[in-house]
Amino acid sequence: MQNSPHASFGNLLIIVIVSAVLGLFFGYLSWGLVLGLSVWCILQIRQTEKLRNWLHQSDTVPPEAQGPWGEIFDDLARIQKRQQAKTKQLKDIIIRFQQSSSALADAFVIIDSHNNLEWWNLSADRLLGLKASADRGKPVINLLRDPRFIRYFRKGNYDDPLQLPSPVLNDTVLQYQITEFGFGDRLLVARDITQLVRLEQTRQDFVANASHELRTPLTVIRGYLETFLDQELPKPLTRAMNQMQTQASRMESLVSDLLFLSRLEASQHILDESPVYIKEMLSSIQQDALVLARAQGKEHNISLSIDSEYDLLGQAQELHSVFSNLIFNAVRYSPLKGKIDIKWTVNQEGGHFSVQDNGLGIESIHLSRLTERFYRVDEGRSSSTGGTGLGLAIVKHALYRHGAQLTIESQFGKGSLFSCHFPLDMLEKVNSANAAT
Ligand code: ADP
Repeated sequence: MQNSPHASFGNLLIIVIVSAVLGLFFGYLSWGLVLGLSVWCILQIRQTEKLRNWLHQSDTVPPEAQGPWGEIFDDLARIQKRQQAKTKQLKDIIIRFQQSSSALADAFVIIDSHNNLEWWNLSADRLLGLKASADRGKPVINLLRDPRFIRYFRKGNYDDPLQLPSPVLNDTVLQYQITEFGFGDRLLVARDITQLVRLEQTRQDFVANASHELRTPLTVIRGYLETFLDQELPKPLTRAMNQMQTQASRMESLVSDLLFLSRLEASQHILDESPVYIKEMLSSIQQDALVLARAQGKEHNISLSIDSEYDLLGQAQELHSVFSNLIFNAVRYSPLKGKIDIKWTVNQEGGHFSVQDNGLGIESIHLSRLTERFYRVDEGRSSSTGGTGLGLAIVKHALYRHGAQLTIESQFGKGSLFSCHFPLDMLEKVNSANAAT
């Protein structure tokens, strides 16, 4: 290839010399040169034609050619071979990727930046009912139409997975998880978690049944204890009886919290939503909190600020439990004369309930585990306040059923801020006359 320009120039020179000599011989030097150069041009055009034809049928062997054109053809043939080998290698990789993705039990779906379906594996056909021929390029929310999926997809925050029944298979529960990649593209993974859900259901049923069964013997024990305590008993026995009664009450609270939690876990979404008048509900809990603070001899300053005309759509008993658990915790975990601020605000993102206290605070290592059942920051601290260890687990589950989220900020020794964030579609202007509290 390096010799090509010289060889080409040499050929041109020979043609020019020969045509000049012939032109001089016949007495037409310029015509001779024109003729010679025309022949040279025609030769070049023919070679270019050959190259073009060959490139168009790239799998054929390169055309025969002499001199520099031969070298060009050979070089191009070598490059072409290398490209063909690379293309084959890439095709093999794609085929292996398709084979391995077809073998996966989970459904994988690639969604482009315009929210349309781009590619999916075989399991997506089976679990989600996507049809390769008809559905490619269609908007994902036209095919996965469950409003809960649409809300999850549009929210754009995919930190937590979503659990839903399969749109095509009966008795199959899927867990959806979306991951963003590239420029606005998303990978949707749907996993069959039916077995896990069944196991979880068995566990929940066991806790619910066990708690239910514990109720009757506890009521009997409490009844007898009350009868004994009404009698004249020797002092040491009265003390023991009193302790037994306190522990029996504690067990009753535990059983009732366990049963409530089991009911919350039984379904992921509330079915019986009704308007809940926030002002009335929070004012009543504020009064209860003041009574609790007084009973504990703490004399807290508990303020309530409601900065919106919007109320909530939800399940009144569950929301009451959420707000009272958080407010009573603030009372219980703040030392004497604490300052507790309860707030309800609404902005373009939704409704926000918060309780801020200047109490004991929580070290950051505990924050992520705080909503686990029976997780205690400090065993001594909690049992002395009479909590069951289930309050925040109840809060988390009840909020989840309302499509809401709990956030916790805290500084050890300075205080805590517990906030509940409700989506816009749970807000409503409520007429106090017909609201539930
Ligand atoms: P408990 O019945 O023990 O209060 P919760 O689930 O309500 O159970 O709370 C879990 C733990 O979180 C509590 O044991 C307590 O240590 C901590 N906690 C909850 N709220 C507060 C708060 N406002 N300030 C400090 N610690 C808190």
